[in-house]
Amino acid sequence: MRIVLVGPPGAGKGTQAAYLAKNLSIPHISTGDLFRANISQGTELGKAAKAFMDAGNLVPDEVTIGMAKDRMAQPDAEGGFLLDGFPRNVSQAEALDESLKADGQKLDAVLDLEVPEDEVVKRIAGRRICRNDSSHVFHVAYSAPKQEGVCDTCGGELYQRGDDTEETVRRRLEVYHAETEPIIDHYKAQGLVVTISALGKVTEVTKRAMEALGRSDA
Ligand SMILES: [Zn+2]
Repeated sequence: MRIVLVGPPGAGKGTQAAYLAKNLSIPHISTGDLFRANISQGTELGKAAKAFMDAGNLVPDEVTIGMAKDRMAQPDAEGGFLLDGFPRNVSQAEALDESLKADGQKLDAVLDLEVPEDEVVKRIAGRRICRNDSSHVFHVAYSAPKQEGVCDTCGGELYQRGDDTEETVRRRLEVYHAETEPIIDHYKAQGLVVTISALGKVTEVTKRAMEALGRSDA
């Protein structure tokens, strides 16, 4: 299956992408991983991306599209893939459509993870990270540490990342509405959009997604 996963920040997209890709035996292709891999391998696209990033600029669509195309052309993506973070705007979506069409392929589904806006803010703004180890993550409401501000695992100090404040989350949501949400309409016109609620336990959401994709057998 060729799937695009979309959803606002805080929808648990990365987590779901990993589980779904595993269940469907297809590679999980995330933009974050693509950038890291291309930059660390020093590819031409990686060098280009790094130059833009170092200058504090956004990486142009052509660079991102080029990385995604290279990755989709790898042998393990022959039978399908799950894209996470790409396309992130309509122009990237159009480039993806064209690229697939040129190879005689097409997407099977665009899975849209839906979360109410206030829930997104609650999820992200409640996150607290340990200063000693960023994998020690807590949440003031959903997985509170035994003692406020102190990591259960190592006793380190917990803090809120600058990216996780309510103000930043609201701004990220605005960008999502303005740039990424229009791709849902773009794919609705192609009859590809499957919308599911991203509320509930991780395993419940994965099950819901597999059912919505008609792959509850996998
Ligand atoms: Zn810790």
